[in-house]
Amino acid sequence: MELKNLDKIVTLCKTRGFVFPGSEIYGGFANTWDFGPVGVELENNIKKAWWKRFVQESPNAYGVDASILMNPRTWEASGHAQGFSDPKMDCKSCKQRFRADNLIEEHSHGETEAEGMTTEQMEAYIAENKIKCPHCGNFNWTPIRQFKLMFETSRGTVEGEKDVVYLRPETCQGEYVNFLNVQRTARAKVPFAIAQIGKSFRNEITPGNFLFRTIEFEQMELQTFCKDEDALRIYEETKKRAWQFAEDIGLKADKLRFHDHEKLAFYAKAACDIQYKFPVGWEELNGVHHRSTWDLSRHQEFSGKSMLYTDPVTNEKYLPTVVEYSIGVGRLTLAALCEAYDEETLEGGDTRVVMHLHPAIAPYKLAILPLQKNLSEKATEIYSALAKEFMCSYDEAGSIGKRYRRQDEIGTPFCLTVDFDTLEDGMVTLRERDSMNQIRIKIDEVANYINEKIKF
Ligand code: ATP
Repeated sequence: MELKNLDKIVTLCKTRGFVFPGSEIYGGFANTWDFGPVGVELENNIKKAWWKRFVQESPNAYGVDASILMNPRTWEASGHAQGFSDPKMDCKSCKQRFRADNLIEEHSHGETEAEGMTTEQMEAYIAENKIKCPHCGNFNWTPIRQFKLMFETSRGTVEGEKDVVYLRPETCQGEYVNFLNVQRTARAKVPFAIAQIGKSFRNEITPGNFLFRTIEFEQMELQTFCKDEDALRIYEETKKRAWQFAEDIGLKADKLRFHDHEKLAFYAKAACDIQYKFPVGWEELNGVHHRSTWDLSRHQEFSGKSMLYTDPVTNEKYLPTVVEYSIGVGRLTLAALCEAYDEETLEGGDTRVVMHLHPAIAPYKLAILPLQKNLSEKATEIYSALAKEFMCSYDEAGSIGKRYRRQDEIGTPFCLTVDFDTLEDGMVTLRERDSMNQIRIKIDEVANYINEKIKF
């Protein structure tokens, strides 16, 4: 899929109520997007599917919902206060700003990894390879400057007295600081996991590619606390589970690949991304990291509080190793939208745009369409009953063909039409989105039939 198709998806998202540009009436606000009525359902369904898989169906996994604003010492312990910055260069000709590591990786089509290079090494690489500005094509760069990624705000208790606080740049610190709270209250035994879905904030100034990179985004994270000798096995299992989830949600295996990190943080034993083939190329969808005991040891050091786990059988006290799995909700939503988007040529030569979203994540499960307006009483009655089961859309405006197309474009897996026979025989027609096949079914059987199809 070419870049232009990303434009088509952005347009469809806007016109059909998936995603609107943030603060649009003020000319927008770079790298922010607002989810509309259809998009918010899609996003919520993705989060529900993830939570079901990694919390509900996972023994020894427990959820938290930690504060966005944390004690600033957290960010000293995590290292973000000192070092969370991006290497930026400005093009002196067109005044656009870019991440030096991205310039290198894009120029080398992902062959050269800039992560781990020093500023000098990156500048040398860009000079040797004469990497030009992607915006204006000139080679006229400022030196690299480090640009802080954490958003700062302040908290004042007394007028004039202010403390700097940060909007969290990642959710995982909320899991780490609550490690013993969760362990004790859930009476959890290592290995166990803490999961969280929540907002993170990063002052990203590079082009966002729609939902791929935003300054405010949700992360879904699973941190597994384990014995060090089990960590590599759990790391491999987590990679497989992350992949399986991506496939189950509808991403095709041939558009997924593992990408092992060559350069690791000094404390890490292994790190891998799962990449997805977005319209703009292969890019990180999620990360899986073996983080050793680094995070808990840092919090122990900076808080002065013991983070040691006591083995209930042997009484051994130790800091567990952490295996992290982290995925952005918006990024996964974008992947699901890209995968689902299709333009089909129909028999008569017409084209239909259809979103082949997995029924479990589709915003509406069913659209209720009376064939004629004077059937709306019966149709409304059916709508009221079925809306108790799942999200239903109701539409009586326009020809039936146009109404089907509207539902296809937002990925509704089933359309139910009410006709005059319905009043006599209590049956309705159910049309399936992908095959466009139609079946006749009793009204009373519709809920079970659809509930079966939308299971995740
Ligand atoms: P990238 O290299 O793309 O900046 P990262 O390696 O910094 O990502 P992590 O810090 O490991 O990413 O974050 C975990 C996940 O959170 C990513 O795999 C991605 O799905 C999501 N994510 C990170 N940054 C953003 C962002 N700015 N916008 C949307 N999602 C993001």
